[in-house]
Amino acid sequence: MDQNRLLKGIGASPGVTIGKVVIVDHGHPDFSHYRLSSENEIREEIACLHKALNESKEQLIKAKEEVGKRNVQEAKSIIDTHILILQDKILINSAVEKIKNEQVDAAWALKSTMQELKKNVADLSDEYMQERTSDIDYIEKRILRNLAGKKPEIISKAGEKIIIVANDLSPADTANLNVQEVLGFVTESGGKTSHTAIMARALKIPSVVGLKNVMLAAKNGDTLIIDGIHGVVIINPDAETLRKYQQKKDQHEEFERRLLKYKDLASESTDGFRMNLMANIEIVEEVASVVDYGAEGIGLFRTEFLYINKHELPTEGELFTIFKNAAEKISPRPLTIRTLDIGGDKFISHVDVADEMNPVMGLRAIRFCLKEVPIFKTQLRAILRASAFGKVKIMFPMISCVEEVRQIKKIMEDVKKELQKEKKEFDPDLEIGIMVEVPSSATIADLLAKEVQFFSIGTNDLIQYLLAIDRVNEQVSYLYEPLHPAVLRLLRRIIDSAHDNGIPVAMCGEMAGEPIYIPILLGLGIDELSMNPIAILAAKKVLRSLEFKQCKMVVDKLFEFSTAAEIKDFLLKETKKYYKNLNLTSTENQLKL
Ligand code: PEP
Ligand code: MG
Repeated sequence: MDQNRLLKGIGASPGVTIGKVVIVDHGHPDFSHYRLSSENEIREEIACLHKALNESKEQLIKAKEEVGKRNVQEAKSIIDTHILILQDKILINSAVEKIKNEQVDAAWALKSTMQELKKNVADLSDEYMQERTSDIDYIEKRILRNLAGKKPEIISKAGEKIIIVANDLSPADTANLNVQEVLGFVTESGGKTSHTAIMARALKIPSVVGLKNVMLAAKNGDTLIIDGIHGVVIINPDAETLRKYQQKKDQHEEFERRLLKYKDLASESTDGFRMNLMANIEIVEEVASVVDYGAEGIGLFRTEFLYINKHELPTEGELFTIFKNAAEKISPRPLTIRTLDIGGDKFISHVDVADEMNPVMGLRAIRFCLKEVPIFKTQLRAILRASAFGKVKIMFPMISCVEEVRQIKKIMEDVKKELQKEKKEFDPDLEIGIMVEVPSSATIADLLAKEVQFFSIGTNDLIQYLLAIDRVNEQVSYLYEPLHPAVLRLLRRIIDSAHDNGIPVAMCGEMAGEPIYIPILLGLGIDELSMNPIAILAAKKVLRSLEFKQCKMVVDKLFEFSTAAEIKDFLLKETKKYYKNLNLTSTENQLKL
């Protein structure tokens, strides 16, 4: 066994954790198929098939109990559908007949039966039934895995503390993880701002992504250390390494405890410049805890996960209940709900979207919503109705021109009229804002500022589009540079345009949560930062050590440099000069507190 095998990837969610590996392989297990040559072999194969079917059923029943405990109604009904398919007599008989008549092994018989079933379903004109092919796939994989003697997937591993190692975890996979059981996760693909990484941070699970070949390097049951701060993974550490990392883990936990003293202090600079520090959330369950992290409200509620995880599109009633719940829980603090940002690296299975060469530049976010107006309207109705229960704001993603905003406003007016007619309450003064995350909207920020009540800068996408770097492509992630002079120039332009037009501007991309950028954002005069809740207290600590006037001067100087490296050098030197006890490189900052 290789000891101390160190792999370097991208730290996607901070923290140190140590646990046992569970490989999650979403592919079909490999089988070498063979012809059966005796009655005995036929009987054995049929017995194997029944055993795998029974195991699959038991796993699903157990999984149903698990999700029942967590009260996830939709998941329960999906599992029920899967159990029904699994028990289908025609299906079982067909596979058994194939083993008998064609003398093929159980895996072959099963695959061929499932293939026929999928074909029959796909031929049906009923759209709902056509979507069932994904359920059949899911069941097929489960039975095949059991036939191959492979371990069942994560959800049924109750009670065990594990580290998931996978090629990739879709946002839906990540949302389905049982946080109590999963200590961390490591994926081969993805970058720091891929939605999977964001989800990991939301769930407070240390993780490293973009670790090529980790599926080959690690085996089930290996001990694995994740250092999510430095993006390091160590497989089968020796005793000394284990001790060192245990110490790091304790240090990190101590760091988090110490930060707690900032929770009730004002978020302002030493000379009284206030900056709202808000939370980004992905799932409604997070609302309850964000105030404990010192959040002054929710600056970004990403709603796409309400769609991705569903078997069907959520209804207005379901969305309303969730938004109302969130608005009430966070009230009187504001809740900024972002409308559906689907596409790019986030897809919903039950909506037909044509394959695109460049999905991140395709029918994404607001473009999708303006095409699928009924889906958009359902969400707007739910948000508007929830606005009667707290301080709700609406924000639209991926705006690239003024026309889109005007189109949205027209739809909003229609929706408001409908609600009024139905005597459904909403906040008539509800503010609307846009995400500034496409270079074109940043460039015409002065024009857009006249159309809306606030801006929120989405640096994850803005940097991706401005620097032409796919945010989930680990090959180019080294080029992802918030200190690029082009980024800083564009940020200044957006912030100044907003202020010239009397509207506030927030930032809700990952850049907002990194201590090193806070002096710049303060110097540029941004009004609000919205970030992963776990980053808020450290941001507050940094903000409370800085002087606005000083940062403004430093920022003016930064515009004289031509490269990100020069800018970083100068920034660190200046902050060290004025603020002796503040170290802005996040790692050192973690340990120096
Ligand atoms: C962004 O692009 O910066 C952003 C906050 O939105 P998302 O990461 O959801 O695309
Ligand atoms: Mg975005």
